[in-house]
Amino acid sequence: MPATIKSHVINARWIVPIVPQGKVLENHSILLEDGVIKDILPTKNLNGGYGQMEMTNLPDHLLTAGFVNAHIHSAMSLFRGYADDLSLSEWLNHHIWPAEARFVNQRFVRDGTTLAVAEMIASGTTCAADTYFFPEVSAKVFEENYFRAQVGIPVLQFSNAWAKSEKEHIIKGLQFYENIRGHSLISAAFSPHAPYTVTDLGFQQVFEQATNLGIPIHLHLHETKQEVETGLIENGRRPYTRMRELGLLKADLQTVHMTELNDEEIESLYENQIHVVHCPESNMKLASGICPVNKLIENGVNVALGTDGAASNNDLDLLAEARSAAFLSKVTSGCPSSVKAEEALSMATINGARLLGLDERIGSLEIGKCADIIAFDLSGISFQPIYNPISQLIYAANGQDVTHTWINGECLYKDKKFTKLNLFQLKGRVESWQKKLGGHE
Ligand SMILES: [Zn+2]
Repeated sequence: MPATIKSHVINARWIVPIVPQGKVLENHSILLEDGVIKDILPTKNLNGGYGQMEMTNLPDHLLTAGFVNAHIHSAMSLFRGYADDLSLSEWLNHHIWPAEARFVNQRFVRDGTTLAVAEMIASGTTCAADTYFFPEVSAKVFEENYFRAQVGIPVLQFSNAWAKSEKEHIIKGLQFYENIRGHSLISAAFSPHAPYTVTDLGFQQVFEQATNLGIPIHLHLHETKQEVETGLIENGRRPYTRMRELGLLKADLQTVHMTELNDEEIESLYENQIHVVHCPESNMKLASGICPVNKLIENGVNVALGTDGAASNNDLDLLAEARSAAFLSKVTSGCPSSVKAEEALSMATINGARLLGLDERIGSLEIGKCADIIAFDLSGISFQPIYNPISQLIYAANGQDVTHTWINGECLYKDKKFTKLNLFQLKGRVESWQKKLGGHE
């Protein structure tokens, strides 16, 4: 007997397929079959055969591709609001790292990652590039919640709850990679933390292993001016130059932040086809600096968006990040047409997919791609009148306007309710961490 084919039709007022950029389809339908987009057609052309299928009618909604959060530390959601209004170095050295040393364990990572997954699903993110300790635990949480993720293998020279040395991080990382290899939703990357927390030897070993396995490297780089100045004093060269000399500047390098870049470095990013993750809200909150997105885009560099951890943001709303990226680029470049609404939407979707090497499968609504789809209800008063749905989405909506989220065709969020995740249980666990971290237990 043939296996049952799971089919589903979604009828929507607007569909924004992302590719080609700026296109809007009105009164169209998407046909899903076994997690894949089979067709996109005018709703009036649906014929009788579709009547047998499960159907979702979204008459006031905009449908688009699920967002790709290209940089997050999911488990750090438990540190949301734990230490605010500080510089990166003070925040890390005096608050986050001591708290991590005290509290982080497998249960912390399980509960923090689940909290992040819930927030992402409810605000339209369907794929994330995550990095934190105990990657095997986060990968399990992503898998159990049907969430798509690139899970970073952390590498640091400092001892922590997961590993005691750079070498141990790499050994454990290789075991982790073996366990998830070939998974349909989860992939792995090496994630050396930053130039100031990893030795030259550590970087060389990471590069060697990543090249052997054919997996990307995900790295915080040039997050602040201070990082670049300290690098110059300690190593006699800018961290970017040090990474070049260590051989890291290869096509699948994912660099995060990049607030300090000279023209030569921008050219080199393009020449080496290196991706940049822009985290505007985390950079603004920590007063880290501003990534020159306008120049990067002009020079053909692929720029994706990340929230960073909720501890420095303090939410995981990628749509808000897209708006911040657009506004920040306009004000810093002095050009109102810098990062237009449709460009911001591409940064939140297809550019992130490209960075992860997943642009053949996700990042846009096209026939043959995975059905990672989100829906926004635009019936509210603050969206009227609707001349340009993409403009309303970027400049007037936020993650809380998401009503439905599908990953691989699986509906995980329906009419603003989780279909699988147990919110009641999650809230109970988060509350007990709040008591513990807040010193009430
Ligand atoms: Zn980060």
